[in-house]
Amino acid sequence: MKMAELPVAVIGAGPVGLAAAAHLIEKGETPLVLERGERAGASLYDWGHVQLFTPWKYAVDAAAVRLLTEAGWQSPEADTFPTGAELAGRYLEPLAALPQVQPHLRFGARVVSVTRDGYDKMKTPGRNGVPFLITIEQADGGYDQVRAKAVIDASGTYLVPNPLGASGAPAMGERELADRIYYGIPDPLNRDRARYAGKRVLVVGSGHSAFNVILDLIDLADQERETSVVWAVRRSGRRLELLFGGGAGDALPARGELGQRVKALVESGRLQLVTGFNVARITATADGVLVAGQDAVLPAVDEIVTTTGFRPDLGMLSELRLRLDTAVESPAALAPLIDPNVHSCGSVPPHGAFELKHPEDNFYIAGMKSYGRAPTFLLLTGYEQVRSIACALTGDEAGARDVQLVLPETGVCTTSILDERGVACCAPAAELSDPSACCGGADTTAAEASCCSSSVPQLIQLQAATKGSCC
Ligand SMILES: Cc1cc2nc3c(=O)[nH]c(=O)nc-3n(C[C@H](O)[C@H](O)[C@H](O)COP(=O)(O)OP(=O)(O)OC[C@H]3O[C@@H](n4cnc5c(N)ncnc54)[C@H](O)[C@@H]3O)c2cc1C
Repeated sequence: MKMAELPVAVIGAGPVGLAAAAHLIEKGETPLVLERGERAGASLYDWGHVQLFTPWKYAVDAAAVRLLTEAGWQSPEADTFPTGAELAGRYLEPLAALPQVQPHLRFGARVVSVTRDGYDKMKTPGRNGVPFLITIEQADGGYDQVRAKAVIDASGTYLVPNPLGASGAPAMGERELADRIYYGIPDPLNRDRARYAGKRVLVVGSGHSAFNVILDLIDLADQERETSVVWAVRRSGRRLELLFGGGAGDALPARGELGQRVKALVESGRLQLVTGFNVARITATADGVLVAGQDAVLPAVDEIVTTTGFRPDLGMLSELRLRLDTAVESPAALAPLIDPNVHSCGSVPPHGAFELKHPEDNFYIAGMKSYGRAPTFLLLTGYEQVRSIACALTGDEAGARDVQLVLPETGVCTTSILDERGVACCAPAAELSDPSACCGGADTTAAEASCCSSSVPQLIQLQAATKGSCC
């Protein structure tokens, strides 16, 4: 088959992958969406019980909605909030079932490698003139290969959670005790109730995933009296002010409210918070699982939930020539805009195909995966990315460059730490007198090095901790 007749492969039938397919179809291109799950939104279903903090109007893509509307789809109420399962069931699955889309989807197709046909990473002459060769592991365990003229990798990061170990590698004992650890967002009130009811549970990590897990576990504890919850985070000292997000200052009120509800639980003493805790070792004892940091050991627990973020699977792309930021693992040009070491806001300047470009022609990483290890991705960002990429791949350079993005800002930029230092997290890194001051979003390594850090773990009630000065 001639190069021009080959499809554009899209890896992942999540919200961004299917949006890419919709934009390509509108541009007259043929997509081929490869999805490891058996249905669209496979990863969304995994955290299907969690309510999004963005309403429907910020959760759907314009091209996808145009295709759906033509087919008589009734949009959910724009200002209500879907759960992950509702986003998949009421939007993605109907989109995947459209006659324009369905023939271009392949389920049970897990991409294991993307290469240039006949070219390993080293070989240059003629490289851009050959198709991509994509190897797929099928649901029956067999392998297949397909060719494509371009590739958009929208496979997300949800399947590659960060480990518990504070150094980025599994802590000692973490692998051996994997059956006591949940990576991601369990459903303690329904699907996973038996696992957590009446148990001593440790939640490790910060951010909105942690908030969701904690709130559900506390609800469970109200119903099942023996259940207890301890929450451990790396951050400490005055950086704790950023732990609960933007609160009332968050332009996404549902997101701000989550943090405030958890903050109230800590302040009332209902939830035990351990700060400045870096997980180093996990040990099974007769009394339960002991989790040790560098200076302290937490009380024994039965179960651990890890909400320490996610990272991109770059292994399947190892034969491609990528330009990735060495820390964030996002496309290099995007990293300064989203690096949580220096930029904690959810708002990023508009960006599209040009910022996401790699030395490997016609290859893009989009969606959650394009943010690498940064946690602040929003769906609207991904939808604009793939609109621009579809333009670039179809020769519409003006359309590709005309990126527009209206994102709600997060209120974490308005904390007193930043006010005191006279900086704003939204400023580019170069404008910050002390980038480590901007430590919202993730428990980041550079931020650990700031004067706000303390290596001594503390079991605290929040008010007591935030009153003192750490510096
Ligand atoms: C709990 C939670 C709540 C969130 N809430 C919001 C919110 O309120 N608002 C918001 O804007 N954003 C939110 N996000 C962030 C982000 O928008 C979502 O993670 C979103 O699902 C990202 O979409 P995506 O298409 O990039 O990736 P995903 O939804 O992760 O989709 C990737 C798809 O690729 C498939 N896949 C993975 N690997 C392979 C492979 N090797 N081969 C083939 N297929 C593969 C997966 O099965 C999946 O279907 C939230 C994230 C989480 C985790």
